[in-house]
Amino acid sequence: MIVVLHRHATREQVDSALEILAGHGVPVVSGTVRGAVALISEQDVPAAVAAELESAPAVERVVVVPGVQRLTSRVFSPEDTRVAVGAGGAVVIGGPEFVVIAGPCAVESRAQMQAATDAVVAGGAVMLRGGAFKPRTSPYSFQGLGLAGLTLLAEQRGRTGLPVVTEVVTPKDVESVAEESDMLQVGTRNMQNFELLREAGASGKPVLLKRGMSATVEEWLLAAEYLMHTGNGGVVLCERGIRSYDRSTRFTLDLAAVAEAKRRTHLPVIVDPSHSTGQPHLVGPMSLAAAAAGADGLIIDVHTDAAGALCDGPQALTGEQFAALTARLAPVVEAVGRTLATRRTQSLASV
Ligand code: PEP
Ligand code: MN
Repeated sequence: MIVVLHRHATREQVDSALEILAGHGVPVVSGTVRGAVALISEQDVPAAVAAELESAPAVERVVVVPGVQRLTSRVFSPEDTRVAVGAGGAVVIGGPEFVVIAGPCAVESRAQMQAATDAVVAGGAVMLRGGAFKPRTSPYSFQGLGLAGLTLLAEQRGRTGLPVVTEVVTPKDVESVAEESDMLQVGTRNMQNFELLREAGASGKPVLLKRGMSATVEEWLLAAEYLMHTGNGGVVLCERGIRSYDRSTRFTLDLAAVAEAKRRTHLPVIVDPSHSTGQPHLVGPMSLAAAAAGADGLIIDVHTDAAGALCDGPQALTGEQFAALTARLAPVVEAVGRTLATRRTQSLASV
């Protein structure tokens, strides 16, 4: 149940609503709904108690939401949420435009970033990706450039106007990553790092929440609840493949989960065909399938020297492959009633 309070409710009025709930033994946590405080409970209440609450002066409305979801539920918020990213809402995810985000897995150097950024701009991406803090399976693998990587990423934003998304792996880095980027990424390995979710949510920046590689759709949505109950409405989900028995692809892309998540939640859902398949020749077909399945966008690895890449080179598309893919994507996106988002023109400067 969600009890949405009036924006101008007084402390006393809120306390009396809380007393009604306490009187019925209903524990609540407070969250924020579009800037107004809400009292959220795991429990639902009988209709008579809901009616009593609705007549309390502090209460705007009471919404009984079936199941475990609350703020992420389509029952609570039937319309699709649109998440604006970048200065002036340069990119909107979840609206009529299908959004393509692209860039290298990791930020490696200024020259690498400039080449990759030029390639993704030429291929029609509207947002740039690149990891500065990398959560690597092995401690001996390249761990990312850290803060220096954030600066190199932000340089490319300055040069092109593309909003940037980058991963944050630990709560203590949320502030600096939020300062240098337009959207925080929480990776598959951290989907249930609840302290990180709280901190990332509280930053107020849009968050790209990847599905845990062994997470159910319900667990994924509950992780999004952690972000949303901090008052952050800018949450975008990303299906990036789940672990299965089959090693012929890096992970198993679960496109049914995309359609199912879109049914259960108003939040946008995008797909990562690169990390899920791990193979460039599968990125194209899975991108087209994701668009047809109702995804709101894609996040694709692009590297101009995949053989020399410090992270995930084998799955990256070249600039030419990326441009060929977006050309094939446009008619599929149009067939499902959308258009491919295009970059607001800004000429490329050198850095
Ligand atoms: C990434 O996008 O760079 C990444 C590490 O993805 P995931 O968390 O899905 O493995
Ligand atoms: Mn990667």
